[in-house]
Amino acid sequence: MEVLVINCGSSSLKFQLIDSDSEKVLAKGICERIGIKGSLITYQPTGGEKEVSNIDMPTHHEAIDAVIKALTNKETGVIDDMSEVKAVGHRVVHGGEYFSKATLVDDDVIKKIEECNYLAPLHNPANIIGIKACMNLMPDTPNVVVFDTAFHQTMPESAYLYAIPRKYYDENKIRRYGFHGTSHSFVSKRVAEIMNKPYDELKTIVCHLGNGASICAVDGGKSVDTSMGLTPLAGVIMGTRSGDIDPSIIEVIAKQDGLSIDQVINMLNKESGVAGLSEVSSDFRDITQAIEDGNAKAKSAFDAYIRQVVRFVGAYIAVMNGVDAIAFTAGVGENNKFVRAAVMEHLGYMGVKINHEANDSRGEEVMISTEDSKVKVFVVPTNEELAIARETVEIVNK
Ligand code: ADP
Repeated sequence: MEVLVINCGSSSLKFQLIDSDSEKVLAKGICERIGIKGSLITYQPTGGEKEVSNIDMPTHHEAIDAVIKALTNKETGVIDDMSEVKAVGHRVVHGGEYFSKATLVDDDVIKKIEECNYLAPLHNPANIIGIKACMNLMPDTPNVVVFDTAFHQTMPESAYLYAIPRKYYDENKIRRYGFHGTSHSFVSKRVAEIMNKPYDELKTIVCHLGNGASICAVDGGKSVDTSMGLTPLAGVIMGTRSGDIDPSIIEVIAKQDGLSIDQVINMLNKESGVAGLSEVSSDFRDITQAIEDGNAKAKSAFDAYIRQVVRFVGAYIAVMNGVDAIAFTAGVGENNKFVRAAVMEHLGYMGVKINHEANDSRGEEVMISTEDSKVKVFVVPTNEELAIARETVEIVNK
């Protein structure tokens, strides 16, 4: 079955057409600068040349239209007609407490996603625009929504409540939600497969370390704790996001620099993290290079990042009262052996033995602990699009 996977941002739209039987990507691409001058679509059929076209895309409607035209283009397209696409799977960032699994879109579902807009004001409205554009342009094709938050809905109350007056949870649903759920679910399942152990008997910690980063404790196939919170700003240090800080810092900086709360939050999202601390870059390739060149700030940012990851991993081992496996995934987790080794070095007493030779790899699925390591450690490349396609097929076939 052909499934179109859509990941809509406020000014971008990433897409992949996946054949769900072979699980192969047939074509993929991205529309950028939607609603801004100079919008363009990059399209690449698998095995073919990447092509970039400047197309006027004032809204996501024109972007979806451009995707349809690219996929059905007589020369470079991979299908003859959009009727060959049997379902569209949409990544949606925030499902609040409404959604604990992927869901077929109808008016009520859209209304509920809209009700979660206040929890993800940058992402959810864009996701809804993408869904509505698909409904308009492909009225006969079912749309399925797959939420970043859904996997974490199994967390116990003790993990998701913030210790602020209870009315903020009761009335406004202010709580920990967690994100990257599709990735944490995909990777933890894969770990069970690799280890040949039942998913519901395994304790796994997934370290999703990309530009955005989160750690998740998966006990018996269920998320029981995760580092991101109400929003994706919380948790570990990220490329440009601060992760957890003392909330009073916001007031101190706002007063000192004469900034609004919005401005401070923007700084915590975009100018902080590894980029803010190192004053070098948010990209770990640059950080690694700068450390080699003797840059002390880059080294200090790296050390703070590692410390924060280790704190969460250690906490989650305690939360689950043990751990069978730890998995690294996403851009940094899959590609940066220094980060993985530095984290693992802290976990020796918890039963982790590094296989340095195996760790000297990039972007591959591999066990990086020794055979006799009590806790097994893996690199598992994540594939959120494939996970969305799988969930979409499951829902549509029901
Ligand atoms: P996002 O959260 O935006 O999806 P990614 O998962 O792409 O982010 O992660 C981006 C990070 O991954 C960057 O810090 C970058 O250094 C690292 N990364 C990506 N690809 C590579 C690579 N081939 N080698 C080393 N590092 C990489």
